[in-house]
Parts: sequence; structure tokens; C-alpha cells
Amino acid sequence: MTLLDGLATSRQIKSELAQVVKEMTERGERPPHLAAVLVGNDGASLTYVTSKVKSCEEVGFRSTLIQKDASITEIELLQLIADLNSKADLDGYIIQLPLPKHIDEKKVLLAVDPSKDVDGFHPENVGRMALGLPCYLPATPGGILELLRRYQVPTEGKHCVVIGRSHIVGLPMSILLQRNRVPGNCTVTITHSKTKDLDQICKQADIIVAALGRPEFLKGSMVKDGAVVIDVGITRVEDSSKKSGFRLAGDVEFSSVSPKCSFITPVPGGVGPMTIVTLLQNTLQARLARN
Ligand code: NAD
Repeated sequence: MTLLDGLATSRQIKSELAQVVKEMTERGERPPHLAAVLVGNDGASLTYVTSKVKSCEEVGFRSTLIQKDASITEIELLQLIADLNSKADLDGYIIQLPLPKHIDEKKVLLAVDPSKDVDGFHPENVGRMALGLPCYLPATPGGILELLRRYQVPTEGKHCVVIGRSHIVGLPMSILLQRNRVPGNCTVTITHSKTKDLDQICKQADIIVAALGRPEFLKGSMVKDGAVVIDVGITRVEDSSKKSGFRLAGDVEFSSVSPKCSFITPVPGGVGPMTIVTLLQNTLQARLARN
């Protein structure tokens, strides 16, 4: 069994990005600039945004964290987005989700200029991805593809079962893995909460991407020998032995699944760090497109 080490791979990619930025600044060019908008004070969202901003600093990008109170109105947020769209020295930005209930998330995401949509959530980018045109890949599926590519995990002709159909993970993952690319060319089955006989479907899979947000859902009995298992889940589970009072659990029961696998991602240290570096890669792509 080979551990798909997202942490080590992300460090390697960060050093490659840092080198590119160094060369840019030595030529007198402006480094890439990413902004992150955080509305409200949700603890998990703040952790994610902070680590994205910190990663920017590590590779020499400029970053701006914009924090707004949960009471911000939809009109005020749309105005902020219009300002970010028109900022010439800003290459890309993200709106950390979820947003407070009184704000229409769809309206907000539609307002983002697709050329600055480094999260790849705007319908224009989703459509371009589906058609195989140049676009910003959504960060989590994009990071998984990069991990498969760097570990040269064979995907062509493989049966891949994706568990979960969310717009940010499961759905784009299934689109990307069926493309005529490397990695890609999988035969994909996308499954969800209404799927019947999921155990039997998973047992037929050469590759499983578990993205449902249910701690340790995928058990060894659901996986065939030699499978590749990608664990996207991150759920905070109460754990009194930890100082924080919780631990992060994946969607895969690692103890029973990993002995059967050819490749598997750990949680933490698998998909999570790869998600962040994909965001950085998208921001560099946005910067280069603005030359
Ligand atoms: P979501 O809640 O939007 O979607 C979950 C999907 O799982 C839904 O499509 C639902 O139909 C499906 N599902 C739920 N129960 C199921 C069941 N019993 N059987 C089959 N399918 C079922 O979640 P999401 O935003 O896609 O996130 C999924 C998990 O991945 C969460 O734990 C989230 O925290 C994590 N996540 C991690 C990263 C990362 O960087 N590692 C990024 C995004 C999300």
C-alpha cells in the first residue's frame, strides 16, 4: 500500500511556485495577488481562510483577508464583489462558504468575474471544465488530479466510484475523471444519498473518491483488493483526549480499508493540503493571464 502523501506533495508544489514567483519578482514583475472574503465568525471557515492566506505568504504571493460581519447585507456584499472585480492589481479572490442564510449564495457566486474566479465555482468555469476548455479547476478535485498525476496512479479504463455529488467536490470530480486526459479516461459512477446498494457498487470500484462528509463511512468490507481510495471528508469529531476537544475524521475507516488498497490518502495530510495548492496554482494562472 502506498500512502498518497498530500502534505509532502503540496510542499513540493509550493517550492515550485515559490521559484516561479522569485523569477517573476527578479524580472521586476508584480507577484500574484489573492484575496479571501470571510463573512461571519465560523471557526472552521476562519481556520480554512487563515491557512489559505498563510500559504500565499509561503510562496511569495500577496494576499488580502477581507473580514465582514455576519450582518453584512447582500447588497453590500455584491458591492464589495464589484470592487474586487475592478481592482487591477488583484488576480483572483475567493468567497469562503457557507454564507449567512440571508445572503443568496448563487447570486454572490454569479457576481464574481469568471477571470478572477480562482475557486472555479462560476457557471462559466464549470461549463468550460465540462467541455474540456481552459478554466480554473475547482480546488479539491483539481488537487486530487494533481496527486494522482504526481504518484502516476493508473486511471485509464478504471472504474471510479465517486460518493457524493456536491457542486464543489463530487460532481466536478466525476466530470474530470471521465475526460480524455491523464489522469482521466475512467468509467465513472457517481453516487449520492439516494443510491441503492452502495456497498455492492463500491466493491466493483478500482478507484473510490469518498466525499460525503460522514466520518469513517467507507469500511474495508466495501472495498476490493488493490483499490485506490481517495478520502475527501473532513469532519470535526469530539475527542476529549485532544487539547482542541476534537479530531479531524475522514469519510474512510482507515484501519480496515488501507490494508486492501494499492494507494490511499490519509486524513489529515491527504486531500486537504492539495486543495490549497490548487488554489495557489489557479491564482498564478490568473496572474499570468493578466499580463
Ligand atoms: P455536501 O454535504 O455538499 O455533499 C455531500 C454529498 O454526499 C451529497 O451529494 C449527498 O447526496 C452525498 N451523501 C450523503 N450521505 C450519503 C450516503 N449515505 N451515501 C451516499 N452519498 C451520500 O458535502 P461536500 O461539500 O461535498 O463535502 C464532503 C466532505 O468533504 C465534507 O466532510 C467536507 O468537509 C469535505 N471537504 C473537504 C475538502 C478538502 O479540502 N479536503 C474540501 C471540500 C470538502
